[in-house]
Amino acid sequence: MNIAIIGAGIAGLSCARYLKNLGVDLHIFEKSRNCSGRMSTRHHMQWSVDHGAQYFTARDPIFLKEVEEWMSNHVAAPWVPRLKIFDGKQWLNSHSTDTRFVGTPNMTAPGEYLAKNLNINFNQTINNVEHKNGNWIIYSQETGKIKKYFDFLIVAIPAAQAQILINNFNGDNVKSVISKFSNSAGMKGCWTLMLKPISSLDIEMDAAFINNEIISWVCRNNSKPMRQNIETWIVHANPKWSQEFINVDKNLAANLILQNANKIGFNFSGAEYSVHRWRYASGYLLFTPKFHISFKQKIAFCGDWLHGGRVEGAWLSGRTLAQKIASHF
Ligand SMILES: Cc1cc2nc3c(=O)[nH]c(=O)nc-3n(C[C@H](O)[C@H](O)[C@H](O)COP(=O)(O)OP(=O)(O)OC[C@H]3O[C@@H](n4cnc5c(N)ncnc54)[C@H](O)[C@@H]3O)c2cc1C
Repeated sequence: MNIAIIGAGIAGLSCARYLKNLGVDLHIFEKSRNCSGRMSTRHHMQWSVDHGAQYFTARDPIFLKEVEEWMSNHVAAPWVPRLKIFDGKQWLNSHSTDTRFVGTPNMTAPGEYLAKNLNINFNQTINNVEHKNGNWIIYSQETGKIKKYFDFLIVAIPAAQAQILINNFNGDNVKSVISKFSNSAGMKGCWTLMLKPISSLDIEMDAAFINNEIISWVCRNNSKPMRQNIETWIVHANPKWSQEFINVDKNLAANLILQNANKIGFNFSGAEYSVHRWRYASGYLLFTPKFHISFKQKIAFCGDWLHGGRVEGAWLSGRTLAQKIASHF
């Protein structure tokens, strides 16, 4: 049996890793030039920052075991930030006892570890799929029809993108289920600022959750283990505000975020910065189906939106889907 997987984020990679170990003939298609999806790091001329997922937690014993393997292979480590909370009026110390992990030396490292020896076709944006005579035919925006048919298709991309991808597919009730799921997941964007201040910020914290403001998260990126010795910061705007302002000009979004940061005590004046618009950053189904599969149509879906909306859920979604497929064939 050969399987095509669309998307080399942590869900697609976790699914692929498990199936690969069982000897399945796998072909992964990824629109970016690297793997790891939203567990990502942006490289500037002399500095880099994790501009997607900031850290991950590991509550499920199976995922914790995986994280231990990552740590013993030096691609992840615990991160113990000096963590604060701003409630809209005052600063409080966080009493969270969660263990937080990060990829090392950057957030893409666990994904790159999983991707080793997998057959990944980069720079391939899959923009159409067809199920004909029991075969899956897939089309890439960059190279047209892929010259191979597949027995089974796994879609490991965000809900809204999955919904668009299968728009022309009418088999079973897959399309209506995914469209219902996608609407319920209600994925939202995230405006992100990456900054290198002109001098070190005189602030006694490494990261903060911000409530009741445009900004929802601020983090000193170089407080994470194995980062460059250059002070860099990341600022995320909250999902509601980001979604409302998702189509505004990048400079306007950046200015509004900088003003808000300044108001609550982060003076980034003169900082070198860049801005990123995540169109599909967060959102998930409240009832946690983990994955969706149709054995009749030979298509399945995995991703964070089906399993709690975070790194751990994405990995578990891919893993549980792979186990389901393996137990069926
Ligand atoms: C700003 C931000 C902050 C976050 N913070 C945290 C956090 O602190 N902790 C946490 O646990 N999680 C966080 N998350 C969420 C976390 O990043 C995700 O839950 C997880 O990475 C999702 O993995 P995934 O594999 O499901 O999806 P993705 O990572 O989105 O992977 C999907 C992959 O599919 C590719 N793709 C999409 N469409 C196509 C196509 N048509 N053809 C081919 N390839 C395609 C994409 O390029 C991508 O590589 C954050 C996310 C964002 C954006």
